[in-house]
Amino acid sequence: MATNLSAGVQAFTSNAFLVTGDRDVLVDPGANYDVVSKLRERVDDLDAVVVTHPHPDHVGNLDAVADAFDPEILGFEGVEEADRELADGDTVTVGDDDYEVLHTPGHEPHHVCLYSPSADVLFSADLVFANGSFGRTDLEGGDRETLVDSIDRLVDVVDDDLAAMHTGHGPSVTSDPYADIELAARTARFR
Ligand SMILES: [Zn+2]
Repeated sequence: MATNLSAGVQAFTSNAFLVTGDRDVLVDPGANYDVVSKLRERVDDLDAVVVTHPHPDHVGNLDAVADAFDPEILGFEGVEEADRELADGDTVTVGDDDYEVLHTPGHEPHHVCLYSPSADVLFSADLVFANGSFGRTDLEGGDRETLVDSIDRLVDVVDDDLAAMHTGHGPSVTSDPYADIELAARTARFR
């Protein structure tokens, strides 16, 4: 069960998903609000934080979370605070499930998605959003062709019976999220 701690927050922040279970993990700490209080309402300890990519709206709260809980910090190369540097194909336990790390650049060079074939859950971060929208590529390090390649990879790797897609911004998708990935793959080729 993933709880978005940024839900209802009026701030420049990404979503911040707390997943509890064998390993209590926060997928992105978000930014510009008191996420530590929201964590304390729900958990005594936090085992790990996975940083999907080092953009300010995703990592602004990282230091506060690190100070409060001393979790293991995981991120791809480029996440300077990382205790464990992730590589493509690594396995990370989030909650009760194992997730595969998918290096998926395009929005940002060090961007990762997390995919669990057993749970049928994808954390797509800023690669694909609800309704087939996709991450912007006009920021430093962004590249549209690379983004298209990364979305194509999701289309290949992710099972078409995906149950839930948790995105970096906006709502999670629990009704046929695979269709949103396919739609993003088509639309990202234009404009
Ligand atoms: Zn971003």
